[in-house]
Amino acid sequence: MILDLFKLDQKVAIVTGANTGLGQKMCVALAEAGCKVCGVARRSCDETKSLIKEGYFSEVIADLSDLSNADYVVDMAIKQFGRVDILVNNAGIIKREDAINVKMEDFDQVLTVNLKMPFLLSQACAKHFIDSGKGGKIINIASMLAYQGGVRVVSYTASKHAIMGMTKALANEWSQYNINVNAIAPGYMATNNTQALRDDEKRSQEILDRIPAGRWGLNDDVMGAVLYLASDASNYVNGETINVDGGWMAR
Ligand code: NAD
Repeated sequence: MILDLFKLDQKVAIVTGANTGLGQKMCVALAEAGCKVCGVARRSCDETKSLIKEGYFSEVIADLSDLSNADYVVDMAIKQFGRVDILVNNAGIIKREDAINVKMEDFDQVLTVNLKMPFLLSQACAKHFIDSGKGGKIINIASMLAYQGGVRVVSYTASKHAIMGMTKALANEWSQYNINVNAIAPGYMATNNTQALRDDEKRSQEILDRIPAGRWGLNDDVMGAVLYLASDASNYVNGETINVDGGWMAR
């Protein structure tokens, strides 16, 4: 049955940035499909846990701006649930500033959380997937700014262009091991990440005017795409980025 391809029974996922926004709903989607989810965050994921049935969620508290935490995160997930099959690199930060004034330490911090840590987590999981002989799924969270330049977010744009490129590069090397590396590019979603934009009435209206669906995205809108890319339904999809954007890129 085709719907069986979407079941994630016996699977284990790591989702970074699991305490809020898109990451929280991705945890819920994966758990509802039968997956055990290890959520990674700097703070407690109590709210996420409360949305998921008993025994299907555990947390690892870690600062993902500290690159030395990559192996710790993957080791903890394996310790908690015995294995890992799916990695969702969702945690991300954005810093708004005129490019002319950007400080290198801020630029570095964005690149560290949005690109370097996803690479290290992907590498650690890929080693585990290869050793297990079973392959796995890696899902990176890109952005419309993986395609476009944006305004006053140069480090974020650089990181999101890079993560889309990295998605293709890793797919080229790891597809032979049954590892599917793909990405989701959310459009303009109503989360903390876009609070400043939504508070700016003029920018908010400009953005809304360009979205064919006529509304900001909701956290729930990414649930289908993450389930598809985490499941056997996408086994022959490699290096792809799926836009979940209400039509923004079609405009
Ligand atoms: P959010 O701010 O609600 O979530 C970001 C998550 O990353 C939070 O859980 C936060 O705790 C975590 N995080 C940030 N820095 C961390 C660190 N050092 N250590 C551990 N965790 C850390 O925003 P969101 O919109 O849910 O963002 C999720 C992803 O979606 C990000 O990669 C973001 O770039 C991407 N995205 C969002 C939008 C949007 O419109 N909201 C659009 C495109 C892409």
